[in-house]
Amino acid sequence: MSHFVIVGAGECGARAAWALREKGFDGAITLIGEEALPPYERPPLSKAAIGEALEPKFVAERNRYAEERIDLMTGVSVDALDVATKQLSLSDGSVLAYDKLLLATGARARAFPGVPMDSQSIRMLRTHADALALRAAMLPGKHIAIIGGGFIGLELAATARMLGVHVTVVEGLERVLKRGVPQEIADAVAAKHRLEGVDVRCGVAIESLTDDAGKATVRLADGDVLGVDLALVGIGAVPNTQLAERAGLRIENGIAVDQRLRTSAPDVYAAGDCCSFPLHLYGGRRVRLESWRNAQEQGGLAAANMLGGDQTIAAVPWFWSDQYDMCLQIAGLSDGAVHHLRRDLGNNAFIIFHLDADGRLLAASGIGPGNAVARDIRLAEMLIAAGARPDPDALASPGIKLKSLLAA
Ligand SMILES: Cc1cc2nc3c(=O)[nH]c(=O)nc-3n(C[C@H](O)[C@H](O)[C@H](O)COP(=O)(O)OP(=O)(O)OC[C@H]3O[C@@H](n4cnc5c(N)ncnc54)[C@H](O)[C@@H]3O)c2cc1C
Repeated sequence: MSHFVIVGAGECGARAAWALREKGFDGAITLIGEEALPPYERPPLSKAAIGEALEPKFVAERNRYAEERIDLMTGVSVDALDVATKQLSLSDGSVLAYDKLLLATGARARAFPGVPMDSQSIRMLRTHADALALRAAMLPGKHIAIIGGGFIGLELAATARMLGVHVTVVEGLERVLKRGVPQEIADAVAAKHRLEGVDVRCGVAIESLTDDAGKATVRLADGDVLGVDLALVGIGAVPNTQLAERAGLRIENGIAVDQRLRTSAPDVYAAGDCCSFPLHLYGGRRVRLESWRNAQEQGGLAAANMLGGDQTIAAVPWFWSDQYDMCLQIAGLSDGAVHHLRRDLGNNAFIIFHLDADGRLLAASGIGPGNAVARDIRLAEMLIAAGARPDPDALASPGIKLKSLLAA
């Protein structure tokens, strides 16, 4: 009987295991994760849920894996991969042979250089255990400093304000969300945080970060010193490539895979946050995404190809973030765009469309209350997938439905 092994029991690994069964695979499936919990959703960890009971949102209850004959091993890490003998060495001392292997090892939070990240007052956020530790410090009247104005830091800032915590966000670059969204959206996000009482400081480097008897001291390059109850370091994520690297797989900002999610080793696939892949839609440019939907979709695609399918990555990158009552959504990749058009939807909701020099729609970034931008972003995604060159005036005119552009 064939044995398919999945390393990494996160969003992607779990979805792949389920997809293998849904697609009729009858062999053995082992899903191995180093965290103690069965696979759970990470997005709620930084959002409003942290203010609630903080029950993990499981992809599926533990007993469902057994029912589907998925051997879920938690609290065990895979320490070595031998691609020649097709064997894995596990932290519990066992050795496991595979016929096909999926690496879905995800990413970890990036540490602040030279600072221990496990002290009482200096923390990061990636796992449910991290969220529990953070939650304990998020009490009314406490003061937290968020190092880094990226998505996770800003979501946590919003959650903390809703819990009555004082928040200072320190961003080294000249604005928040520099990597993810255009200036106009970043400005709207920063304005909302300031309105809600967050002290947002941009263009300020951190000189040092220390834990002093359970309190954190953040020394800023402008001379200011923040004494806070907790410093949350939110400066991005690093792909977990260690296992693949030691096994001699090709690494290129993540485990390098082709359009079918195949690594450089036979019968070894990689998917989700840990891998970089060529995106045909953007001229074959190699990208690595850290996005929930991508992890899900690639889990399914890897499963299909492990079963002998021939599916290639075609999805348009998509990401969302919730902060206060606002939802931000991004479809596509805006690098290389030369024209930026704004479409106002009313009620403080708007979308920025990014087009290349030939007028091709590359990306759309929107923000608004609730799901105000969801429909138009979905239509933009379809336009991007179709390689459309929509009339710029129509894009900017809320009176003209995007659906009509799609038909054109
Ligand atoms: C706080 C937070 C909020 C987020 N919010 C959003 C959002 O709003 N929108 C969005 O699109 N995305 C969001 N994301 C990103 C999204 O959660 C990730 O893109 C997604 O979880 C990636 O799934 P993955 O399975 O590839 O990796 P992961 O979820 O990182 O799972 C990988 C798993 O593999 C395990 N592992 C690694 N190495 C080994 C090994 N050698 N042996 C055994 N196990 C191993 C890891 O411990 C981990 O459990 C958020 C992420 C975080 C942390």
